[in-house]
Amino acid sequence: MDAQFFTAWIEEIARVVTANRDHLTRLDAAIGDADHGANLHRGFTAVLEALSAKPADSPGAILTLTGTTLIRKVGGASGPLYGTAFRQMGSRLGPGADVTLTELASAVEAAVAGVQKLGGASEGDKTMVDALAPAARALTEAAQGGAKTGEALDAARLAAEEGARATIPLQARKGRASYLGERSIGHEDPGAASTALILGALHAAAG
Ligand code: ADP
Ligand code: MG
Ligand code: MG
Repeated sequence: MDAQFFTAWIEEIARVVTANRDHLTRLDAAIGDADHGANLHRGFTAVLEALSAKPADSPGAILTLTGTTLIRKVGGASGPLYGTAFRQMGSRLGPGADVTLTELASAVEAAVAGVQKLGGASEGDKTMVDALAPAARALTEAAQGGAKTGEALDAARLAAEEGARATIPLQARKGRASYLGERSIGHEDPGAASTALILGALHAAAG
């Protein structure tokens, strides 16, 4: 996977975030402050601008610029958290021009660790971690099992979608939704839903 692949990933994220903007906002309206769709739309629009203004030439540089831009442009919890996730992936990939599946899996594991360190959420707390951590595990297992890229990314997408769906019956223990206590039960976490979209975009980028 090269710089072109990672650029395609980011462009696909921007597309699906825009297409799902209202959906993400509705999820956030139920258990938060109804801005998750707008936050990510603003963030990834700025990322596209940043990437075209200053083309990054390696996978690591593209992901680092993505993360830095999200931190700068997105207020709210998700900006620093997704920003950290992308920056951690960028730094784990380093300056190499070509990324193997094993390296990508390791980068997504680094993203999980970064999000958990910054936000303090564990799996089951009803956050983006509930989608991201299983996706990282699925990717690592697929890479270790010698899966082809498309299969591995499909497994990661599926794990993220299942993880997001599994947040519905949970009570939120982190972020704004946790202020609702038991009233957060019965709604999908918006950040877990957007993480599933981001993993879906990764699979789509593989063609
Ligand atoms: P805000 O809650 O500040 O309005 P967003 O609506 O953009 O920010 O993002 C909310 C999402 O951020 C939540 O649905 C959840 O997935 C994620 N989130 C919030 N706090 C944390 C945390 N401490 N750790 C991990 N994810 C979190
Ligand atoms: Mg919000
Ligand atoms: Mg907000």
